[in-house]
Amino acid sequence: MADIQRRKTATCSINGVRVGSDAPVVVQSMTNTDTADVASTVQQVAALAKAGSELVRVTVNNDAAAAAVAPIVEQLDRQGVRVPIIGDFHYNGHLLLKKYPECARALAKYRINPGNVGIGRKDDANFRTMIEVAAENQKPVRIGVNWGSLDQALLTRMMDENSRLAEPRGAREVTMEAMVVSALNSAALAEKYGLRPDQIILSAKVSGVQDLIDVYKALASRCDYPLHLGLTEAGMGAKGIVASSAALGVLLQEGIGDTIRVSLTPAPGGDRSEEVRVAQQILQSLGIRSFTPQVTACPGCGRTTSTFFQEMAEQIQSYLLEQMPVWKENYTGVEEMKVAVMGCVVNGPGESKHASLGISLPGTFEEPKAPVYVDGRLFTTLKGDRIVAEFIRILDDYVQSHYAAREAVAVQ
Ligand code: SF4
Repeated sequence: MADIQRRKTATCSINGVRVGSDAPVVVQSMTNTDTADVASTVQQVAALAKAGSELVRVTVNNDAAAAAVAPIVEQLDRQGVRVPIIGDFHYNGHLLLKKYPECARALAKYRINPGNVGIGRKDDANFRTMIEVAAENQKPVRIGVNWGSLDQALLTRMMDENSRLAEPRGAREVTMEAMVVSALNSAALAEKYGLRPDQIILSAKVSGVQDLIDVYKALASRCDYPLHLGLTEAGMGAKGIVASSAALGVLLQEGIGDTIRVSLTPAPGGDRSEEVRVAQQILQSLGIRSFTPQVTACPGCGRTTSTFFQEMAEQIQSYLLEQMPVWKENYTGVEEMKVAVMGCVVNGPGESKHASLGISLPGTFEEPKAPVYVDGRLFTTLKGDRIVAEFIRILDDYVQSHYAAREAVAVQ
């Protein structure tokens, strides 16, 4: 694992999942089902949890959603899915949490957006109500500032104050500062209204990579609450993945960030769990946590023009993903395994020797043989049209012989 000095924070416990300080950086996700549709929401939460989401947030936006929360948690529990469920509140959270006490009890944490709960307008009554319900039920809270719904009263006041300065700052700078101030002021109010510091997590999400980096660096330097990281409205496909990775990568490398979410827009009918896999991959690529065996594959070039190489890389990657839920249950440390699938002799043997297992295919004009390396040594050479099947058999044997069976670990 990478030697990254994490920022020191309080540690918040969310139904036993620790967030902050020396706890592993936690992966979370959010459903996009109608929360009132209990069956669909249970199904999606279970899928997200199976993909590895350690916390799952659901929107609680109206009476039907609030009434559905306790049945959702109960059904998940009956299915053995124990992932903590977080309620996402906007505008009417103070009403819903009071009207549906079973919802308030069933949720593991509340997310409050200070920009739309009334802070700074007339008084803080709505925010106070939510915090008091949280304190009464001993639930942690994430104070989640988002620049799309930033407290406008606060922003206007700060813009006005800025305009009176001899050398006013730019609007972007003032907006970023308003995000930080909104989060910190709300956290101070939350403590005043009954939450302990270790029951508070902060976030300040924006959709621009450089903005996110700036706002989180400022926030991290001015408090010791755990921080939830995420690039809001990251977008679809490669854009969303790359932008999230760039922003989160910089911050995580600096030890900032205790829980992360990747806010991808799925394609119609797409798999919501993709955001979990991307979040895991960000952490694993940085050497912060391991979730699944990593495949090193060369991009291919004119030296290996056949599609056989691409198909093989894909088949091996898919096989690892399919097996991982079973392997994870049975073999300790299998997520650390590294597999190299290389296209020719130029980098194939070298890269394969650095992996747990590696295979180097014959490139164009090379002898039709595929050397297989295990723990840096030439293990065998495969030939013919069963290369993939035989390599997968070697992979299975490697897992069984190199990673301790879970039961054996438990007995020790
Ligand atoms: S390992 Fe061979 S096939 Fe792959 S990119 Fe390098 S030169 Fe090309």
